[in-house]
Amino acid sequence: MKINIVGGGLAGLAAAIPLAAKGHQVAIFEQNSHLGGKMNVWQSKGYTFDMGPTIITMPAVLEQLFQSAGRNVQDYLNMVSLDPQWRTIYSDGSHIDLCSSLEAMTAELSRTAPAEISNYLNFLSYCQRMYEISEKWFFWKPWGSLKDVMSASTFGPQSLSLAAAIDPMSSIHQAVGRHFKDERLRQLFEHFVQYVGSSPFVAPAILCLIPWVQLGYGCWYPMGGTGKIAAALTKLCLELGIEVHCNTLVAQINVSNGRATGITDGDGKIHPADIVIANSDITLTCTELLPERDATTAVKRQGSALEPACSGMVLYLGCKKKFEGFLHHDFLFSSDSDAEFRDIYEKRVPHSDPSIYLAIPSITDPTVAPEGCEAVYALVHTPYVSPEYDWNTRAREYRDIIVKKMERCGFTGLEESIETERWITPLDLQKLYRVNKGAIYGVVTRRGLTSAFKTGNRSPLPGLYFAGGSVNPGAGVPMVLMSGQIAANCVLEDITSGAVSGAPKLATA
Ligand SMILES: Cc1cc2nc3c(=O)[nH]c(=O)nc-3n(C[C@H](O)[C@H](O)[C@H](O)COP(=O)(O)OP(=O)(O)OC[C@H]3O[C@@H](n4cnc5c(N)ncnc54)[C@H](O)[C@@H]3O)c2cc1C
Repeated sequence: MKINIVGGGLAGLAAAIPLAAKGHQVAIFEQNSHLGGKMNVWQSKGYTFDMGPTIITMPAVLEQLFQSAGRNVQDYLNMVSLDPQWRTIYSDGSHIDLCSSLEAMTAELSRTAPAEISNYLNFLSYCQRMYEISEKWFFWKPWGSLKDVMSASTFGPQSLSLAAAIDPMSSIHQAVGRHFKDERLRQLFEHFVQYVGSSPFVAPAILCLIPWVQLGYGCWYPMGGTGKIAAALTKLCLELGIEVHCNTLVAQINVSNGRATGITDGDGKIHPADIVIANSDITLTCTELLPERDATTAVKRQGSALEPACSGMVLYLGCKKKFEGFLHHDFLFSSDSDAEFRDIYEKRVPHSDPSIYLAIPSITDPTVAPEGCEAVYALVHTPYVSPEYDWNTRAREYRDIIVKKMERCGFTGLEESIETERWITPLDLQKLYRVNKGAIYGVVTRRGLTSAFKTGNRSPLPGLYFAGGSVNPGAGVPMVLMSGQIAANCVLEDITSGAVSGAPKLATA
């Protein structure tokens, strides 16, 4: 079969690899000059900056992708485990490290919050339960709705007990708040939901699976930078004979006789295919790439109703000195996280005392910065692009707020030490990766019985499939790698069952 993939992000690559390994003719169409999408790299004056993801969890999903092509990930990447995983630094100057082993974490809590040790253990069991439910019912499955969960094969008393077990009416804020008394631990564990860019006040408690994923399966770093993962996947795609069309915008997904028949690129050239997988943002796919036809109405309605997850401002700072007191990953927390989340998710303005996530990979990896220097990445979550804040005129102002806070929190002499610098805003993210309103993590996840589900990977339009952070199972590196593989599995199943077959040879737009 001929399969066209719109977008060469991680999910697009993860869909392409198993399909090519099964002998299908796969072509990827990517508007940028690189594959990997948000897993992008900027290099300047001897510094290497990962521009997007820096915290890598659930490496097994990546291993499985390499295995699907008969490869071993170790032959492509040198992944090291980071422990402690993070340092969280509070406004009073105290810090708590997040450690992988129970023993080390208990020792850290004995030092910082001894009264919370049993609460931590209870919370960990709760998170583990949420992970196990997700693993059994949601991971590796194409569904995007409660209807799918309740489908003929799965409906029964188990479905009802599932609905109760996921604690559907509790938000992350409530679930974390029930477990801890110490505000610092509440802030720490609530912050995990920022991995999917949703407000802890509305995100469902099931997302407590995220701390379990990191604490249970580790926090990983590929030597050379996270961009090495995109590079390894690109290498594998080329080894498998996948056609790669970089610098090629997809202007339209073609539909004929009620099925997807290929794509038209930005120059008007038609590329026919039997199957199309859209790794592009779901909202833009539905509102911009699909033609106005009756057959696509259902898909379109789905896309236009989805709210984007948060966006962010990221600084990449090449500093000609080292800073003491930091780990590879650090958080400089806001003094009032409730006010911060309300600003980002409700008032839609950047917070004046932001929580800053820092990645300083040069602490682990000497290859990413010149000797004696530090490659510093600072990410602050902000609202998605909205009229409330004009990034065209106010980006520098917010960059200065971030740098000044870093200086107050231990980066003494930061401003003078910067020898190369770049920053990106929500407007840049929107343009660079063609995402709705600059959303970093796809669409928001809300609590409630149905709203926690994402758009499914098999679209209602025959021959069209979805993969990526804005669809099932959601955003973040492991989830999008899973999303691509789920979409590929759907294609393979539908080919086997005869649900999709070769498209007409002369496909039209
Ligand atoms: C600053 C930042 C920090 C992050 N930190 C982490 C982290 O620490 N850990 C983590 O797990 N995740 C993190 N993430 C999230 C993670 O990067 C994403 O969830 C994931 O990379 C998304 O992959 P994707 O394939 O869904 O989409 P994308 O990476 O957005 O790829 C989609 C691709 O499609 C292309 N495209 C779109 N439309 C078209 C079109 N019409 N024609 C041609 N090409 C098109 C785009 O150019 C893009 O390359 C971060 C993201 C950002 C931006």
